[in-house]
Amino acid sequence: MQYEVIVDEMNNYVKHNHLNTVEELEIDRIFEPPLVGIASANDPLFVRLKEASVVGDAYTLPGEWLEGAETVISYFLPFSEKIRRANRKKGLPALEWLYGRIEGQEFNAALSTHIMDMINNESSARAVAPSLDPRFEVKDGFISRWSERHTAFIAGLGTFSLSRSLITEKGSAGRCGSIITGLDLPVTKRPYSELYQHCSFCGECLERCPSRAIKPVGEEKRAGMEKPICRDYINKKIKPRFEPRFGCGKCQTAVQCEDRIPVAGR
Ligand code: SF4
Ligand code: SF4
Repeated sequence: MQYEVIVDEMNNYVKHNHLNTVEELEIDRIFEPPLVGIASANDPLFVRLKEASVVGDAYTLPGEWLEGAETVISYFLPFSEKIRRANRKKGLPALEWLYGRIEGQEFNAALSTHIMDMINNESSARAVAPSLDPRFEVKDGFISRWSERHTAFIAGLGTFSLSRSLITEKGSAGRCGSIITGLDLPVTKRPYSELYQHCSFCGECLERCPSRAIKPVGEEKRAGMEKPICRDYINKKIKPRFEPRFGCGKCQTAVQCEDRIPVAGR
């Protein structure tokens, strides 16, 4: 099975599957077609994720999820303009964003499942989507056996940022997914060399954050978002009000990295 066949199938799924719509809010597309990158399952960066300073020992390598793993398909689904625009106001999250976060994640899982099933049923290779696998778990609320954003970084889709989002050529407002495969697909070149290359450190996300979870950084540029503060805000202020939905995303909207790379080639 070829790379082009997989990308065409993903694009068709995004354009035509009803799960990518929200009828009650007249949203005809939660996500736009994805950016797709391919990482080698044996990329040494995967091994580095086991280091305590990155994800830690709980992290599980592609070859541990799937015997004979060759490549990892990673994708970034950009939120449609309707979803992003609605969330540009300050304060509480827009309903459109919350549907994008929850119903959008259901669509994201359906897309991963669809592509995984297609590879398993229509090729001689095997495929596994780690985030949907029964072995997947998140320890202590934060330490995960698999990281979609780190995978996307390795697959050449984007770099990290002050707000801990992944900034791709379609910006940071979107969701990632990935599928480990036994397919021999062409590996995508990483068009960056630094972890935070796409972040301008403009601080707009810091100003937008209602919980003050994003801290200013000093000379040594690094992720400034404190996950426990963000999580507490969403659990205590957002969930009780909007259940069954939750989310925020103010740090990904009305900021210069919302739908683009703010500074190229830093
Ligand atoms: S708003 Fe500015 S500082 Fe924050 S993640 Fe985007 S580019 Fe980086
Ligand atoms: S999701 Fe909301 S609370 Fe969390 S860091 Fe972003 S802006 Fe702050």
